[in-house]
Amino acid sequence: MLGQVFGYSDFRGPQQAIVEHVVAGGDALVLMPTGGGKSLCYQIPAIVRQNAGHGVTIVISPLIALMHDQVGALTEAGVSAAFLNSTQSYEESSQIEQQLLRNELTLLYAAPERINTPRMKSLLTSLNERGLLSLFAIDEAHCVSQWGHDFRPEYRSLSLLHETFPDVPRMALTATADALTRQDMVERLKLEDARHFVSSFDRPNIRYTIVEKTDATRQLLRFIQTEHHGEAGIVYCQSRKRVEEIAGMLEDAGIKAMAYHAGLDARLRQQRQDRFLREDGCVMVATIAFGMGIDKPDVRFVAHLDMPKNIEGYYQETGRAGRDGLPADAWMVYGLQDVVNQRRMIDTSEVASEEFKAVMRGKLDALLTLAEGTRCRRVSLLGYFGEASEPCGNCDNCLTPPAVWDATEAARKMLSCIYRVQQASGISFGAGHIMDILRGKPTEKVVQYGHDQLSTFGIGADLAEPQWRGVLRQLIASNLVRVNTEAFNTLQLMLDAKAVLKGEVSVLLRQQAASTKAERTRRGSKSTVKTSVKGMAEATLNAGALERLGRLKAWRTDVAREHNLPPFVIFHDATLRAIAEQAPQDLHALSSISGMGVKKLAAYGAEVLRVCAEPD
Ligand code: ADP
Ligand code: ZN
Repeated sequence: MLGQVFGYSDFRGPQQAIVEHVVAGGDALVLMPTGGGKSLCYQIPAIVRQNAGHGVTIVISPLIALMHDQVGALTEAGVSAAFLNSTQSYEESSQIEQQLLRNELTLLYAAPERINTPRMKSLLTSLNERGLLSLFAIDEAHCVSQWGHDFRPEYRSLSLLHETFPDVPRMALTATADALTRQDMVERLKLEDARHFVSSFDRPNIRYTIVEKTDATRQLLRFIQTEHHGEAGIVYCQSRKRVEEIAGMLEDAGIKAMAYHAGLDARLRQQRQDRFLREDGCVMVATIAFGMGIDKPDVRFVAHLDMPKNIEGYYQETGRAGRDGLPADAWMVYGLQDVVNQRRMIDTSEVASEEFKAVMRGKLDALLTLAEGTRCRRVSLLGYFGEASEPCGNCDNCLTPPAVWDATEAARKMLSCIYRVQQASGISFGAGHIMDILRGKPTEKVVQYGHDQLSTFGIGADLAEPQWRGVLRQLIASNLVRVNTEAFNTLQLMLDAKAVLKGEVSVLLRQQAASTKAERTRRGSKSTVKTSVKGMAEATLNAGALERLGRLKAWRTDVAREHNLPPFVIFHDATLRAIAEQAPQDLHALSSISGMGVKKLAAYGAEVLRVCAEPD
């Protein structure tokens, strides 16, 4: 089935075990990183079970805007699939319902809010009565949990599935894996008896880089221009306003950038998403409203201009880079202000309970520790998901080990300054004021409060402000200092600060890491890493192959436009590359190329051979 329909020669990781278990009618919980290959885990069982007379597999997916392309990709591979959603007319929906009742479909995509409608319920009931309800596949299943980073209330109604159709097998799939969310999924979707399949969360082709924010806009521009010129990428920002600003700035710099956020009307969003998927080299500047389910394989970078809320969000968003297995970058800038903003959002949330806020603060702290840390980023990330690993050689900390300086003395100075100021004035002050005192700057405010008379005035004149900011971030990340966002972002000492004040604990800090391409290349690290990552050698094509690739891509663009689908749905870049390289002479040779299934060979094989052989 794998080779015939999808044209792949081997299963990846646990795919085979999952497929076998689900084909046999077992329930499953599948945790796999973004880009790991979850779709095949329900698509193949759907085909096998349909062939065995079990009827249709219902795929529950929150992504109405992507259903058209998902169904298109299956149709291209010769699988009969359809979707039911609010974009269709009554007649269109009725037609699909008829097809279902005649058992003509293998997969049906529907949004969770649809499942609970009376019309859908009665349709499912009719199918079930005829023995034509084969499997429920719940995609993005973490949306059912408020502990996940993308809670969607409509997922709660999916309890209907096990309550009304207890005998229909269920599988839940997600790329979010923390223990709390997992537990919640199991309970809410009633998967206690399901087998759990947990893959490695490693994405070896993604290079993680986290740099200190100095001038975010300029840093981003330089990053794109030097490392990803003309390539597709996603830039995440916190607010809609900032999304608009950054997209405008990139456009002015001649980059094909678009803004995307929930404040834009649905038509415009769909248009921009389609352009991002269909046109080469577009950069989407977006809030987190964008990206779920985006299966564009050749996104070469994901940049964060503002810090996400937690590691789950960060990992899910960065996972959208490099699904094709070729080298890709996850790049983030962050600074003290990000920390303060995120804390404030948690503290001032009026809807959240104290318990919820405490969990959110813990998750934010884990992300801060990752950002400030000096050890391998991948080891830290995978460790967060409970997976042990060795330093990767493909992150900023591995490639350019940050210089570490002993900040014990500086940390003590800062802590004692915060303490003295609070003691002398009976109130707390913010970061700027504390740093002025440390650096011995007699500002109006410093003098007004008599803080130039304190013993800590000027004791930190030896360090520059950026270094003090680094010290403070680290103190916040280690929970020694709290930013009280309910009182003008003033700084407060936490209990554990005592040990540092007394000199019992030492504090090691990272120097600001170098992160430009020039510096990395000088160290000769980039090229070695690129080829050392498994199975993604940057194929160097000879002149003839390059020309063939150019022709094949142009042909693919035409076909994709004709079918109103993204080009990668017709053939992946990797498939076209292999064809260009091997220049197959007949259908038999062509059929052995990865990504060339039976249906595609029949539909396009002759054309591909012709385009490939065209005289230069
Ligand atoms: P996920 O849903 O887990 O994020 P997808 O199902 O979109 O990931 O798969 C990611 C990419 O990997 C897709 O382009 C898919 O075609 C490809 N893929 C999945 N399984 C295999 C396999 N066994 N062999 C080759 N490519 C695969
Ligand atoms: Zn590393």
